[in-house]
Amino acid sequence: MDKNFQEEFTQIIKFQPPLYKQRHQFVKDLVEKYKPKKVADLGCADCSLLWMLKFCSCIEVLAGLDICANVMKEKMHTLSPLPVDYLQPSERSLTVTLHHGSVAHKDPCMLGFDLVTCIELIEHLEESELKKFPEVVFGFMAPSIVVISTPNSEFNPLLPGVLLYRHPDHKFEWSQAEFQSWALETARCYNYSVEFTGVGHPPTGMEKVGFCTQIGVFVRKYPQTGESLQSEKPTEAVYKTVFKAVYPSLKDEKYLQNAVISEVMFTAQIIKHRLMSKHKEYSDDPERKSKFQLSMNCFSDYLGKLVVEKNMEPFVSGNEVYVPLTTIFSFPKVNRLCGTFEKLCKLIAGKVTLSSDGSAVMFNTEHENEEN
Ligand code: SAH
Repeated sequence: MDKNFQEEFTQIIKFQPPLYKQRHQFVKDLVEKYKPKKVADLGCADCSLLWMLKFCSCIEVLAGLDICANVMKEKMHTLSPLPVDYLQPSERSLTVTLHHGSVAHKDPCMLGFDLVTCIELIEHLEESELKKFPEVVFGFMAPSIVVISTPNSEFNPLLPGVLLYRHPDHKFEWSQAEFQSWALETARCYNYSVEFTGVGHPPTGMEKVGFCTQIGVFVRKYPQTGESLQSEKPTEAVYKTVFKAVYPSLKDEKYLQNAVISEVMFTAQIIKHRLMSKHKEYSDDPERKSKFQLSMNCFSDYLGKLVVEKNMEPFVSGNEVYVPLTTIFSFPKVNRLCGTFEKLCKLIAGKVTLSSDGSAVMFNTEHENEEN
């Protein structure tokens, strides 16, 4: 490489966004493309990639593994659910777990993943660990996709201040040919295909240097045989779980029930409120009072184009207001949460005051009238 040309570039190479963010964005894009449900990040360090991935709605299981427990613990609290997660539980379930251990060892907690990411990990492995790594990841874990990123040593002369390796803990840094030959051999051995790409473009005119971070995306060639395959892999647990968070989800009956009750009450209150203002308008004027019932027949328009059958109409009786469950069930949000009318009835049973036949939510307006 021309020395002057090289020096010129060492002054200006600065990645925007920073390279680590580009690597994480690469993984996020891959998640959005393949929609894996279970993702494991090996060498997860400060959990920043895991934190980013917890917002991907397709993911239900996230796991991190690192040989250094302290680095994981630093920011692992950022993986805990927030108050808003409890106030508005998500429809998907999500469990996040962190394990302390080495990628050179097999542990059954690493089975069943769809995507395994190893971002800037392999160059930190000792020779003996690197030897065991393919068997653990591709042979034992055998996910449908593996992403491995590692520095491209050919780019190093363009990086200011890099003499041997980019980081003091790196055990090696590979050229494109070295990484590709290791990756192709690994893929061949474990029946995967591999494609090469990267992040951090080289400067114009220096394309041969390749990406600053080289990436191999491995895709398993054989179909998943599911649980049967995993049960054939008896191994003792060797990792230590250092963190586990189970996010509140509507898949959990307890959170679903809370969500349904509050949505039912909210909907019923709105209907009641509209009914009462109409009722008041008519009862203030005795002549119009008799027309009230007639007006109630037009309540369908009032509630926003509901398909109103006779038994869906809310009504006032003395101090009581009745809002039929069928009306409430026809509101999209309640409908979507419950799925069936039977489920709605089951979830609110004993939790909401109903009419004696159980067909309507009942409000007693006695005190409201007094206040008025
Ligand atoms: N993946 C992170 C950074 C990786 S740095 C990111 O994207 O930013 C490499 C990490 O691998 C370190 O946290 C280091 O502790 C961990 N590591 C090194 N050897 C390991 C091993 N044998 N098993 C698991 N993790 C290891």
